[in-house]
Amino acid sequence: MPKYKYLIETSNNSCGDALIITLKPKTPQDIFNFKPGQYVMLSFTDVLGKLFINHPFSIASSPTDDNLVFGIRVIGKFTQTLCKLPQGTKIDVLGPFGTFVFDEAKYSEAVFIAGGVGVTPFISAIKYATKKSLTNKLTLLYSNRGLNSTLFYDDIKQLVTVNPNFSAQIAITGEVVPDDALYCKNCRIDKDFITSSIDSIINKDFFLCGPNAFMKAMEKNLIELGVNKNRIHQESFSVVPDTSLKNNYLNILLVYGFSIILFIVALIFVSGGFKEEENEEKTEIDYQIVNTNTQKVETVTATITPTYTPTYTTSTIPAPRTRTS
Ligand SMILES: Cc1cc2nc3c(=O)[nH]c(=O)nc-3n(C[C@H](O)[C@H](O)[C@H](O)COP(=O)(O)OP(=O)(O)OC[C@H]3O[C@@H](n4cnc5c(N)ncnc54)[C@H](O)[C@@H]3O)c2cc1C
Repeated sequence: MPKYKYLIETSNNSCGDALIITLKPKTPQDIFNFKPGQYVMLSFTDVLGKLFINHPFSIASSPTDDNLVFGIRVIGKFTQTLCKLPQGTKIDVLGPFGTFVFDEAKYSEAVFIAGGVGVTPFISAIKYATKKSLTNKLTLLYSNRGLNSTLFYDDIKQLVTVNPNFSAQIAITGEVVPDDALYCKNCRIDKDFITSSIDSIINKDFFLCGPNAFMKAMEKNLIELGVNKNRIHQESFSVVPDTSLKNNYLNILLVYGFSIILFIVALIFVSGGFKEEENEEKTEIDYQIVNTNTQKVETVTATITPTYTPTYTTSTIPAPRTRTS
């Protein structure tokens, strides 16, 4: 997979929780083709010389642009360091990857449903459709917690005004929103919100991107509204296995571990059982003999096992007898 060299052109490095970063190609040979919705792996070296490698980020710019734009939620070490990098820092770009793409020939009517930073691949598709003056009907339903962390608000506002085939509604779940046509007051994306934002579900493809729980809820809404599953396309931004999967693995491990322990216990029990059977089959035979030194009558007990290895004990009990235990 080819690697391309880019330089940081601009970055809103206030390092709050949302970062928009623009990269420009180091040379014209570093410009590469990609499809709207695809992602790349970013790597860089920080100011102290520490290497940060291969974190995935969807491209939020149009494939028609030379520069690459990314909308990034600042979470951990990689994104915190990325947001502090000065202008001109070299960034390695590996890719493009992914099949979550907006194909203009395939999807004449697309509804993009984004949770938080999951809006990035859709911004690329909407910018692309607008730049190419495509007639595809596009709707963006974008859910976010707060106003400040709503990435690409200005771009969306501008795209709505220049592209007559694009409409957008933003639902802010954690704050009161100002009067603004783009913001939906006291909304969250549910079935009512979806049906009131589009004319009908017929002939539409739905694209979901955001946290796993958000996508599951949206998929459920769409299926309940009667959307065919093969018209629902999804991309997860989770780079760690979701906990349900982790729990599944744990369950599998527990079941296997428990089965192995049960098997071992059963084996011990069964082999112990054989020993019991051996004991049951043991036969003790008492012989009376005269000790020639003491002239006393002694009883010798011979224990016969199924392997016919007799073991002997002696006692001075005078009664001759034979018994089977
Ligand atoms: C295909 C794809 C496209 C993506 N596109 C974007 C994008 O456009 N914008 C964007 O902001 N992010 C995107 N991501 C997610 C992004 O890659 C991670 O959020 C980022 O790499 C985390 O780096 P970090 O340094 O902030 O966190 P780390 O220091 O790597 O991790 C910090 C903590 O957060 C947890 N964590 C990190 N990332 C995630 C995650 N995604 N989900 C759940 N827990 C996580 C880690 O387990 C760890 O506990 C995308 C992911 C994928 C798979």
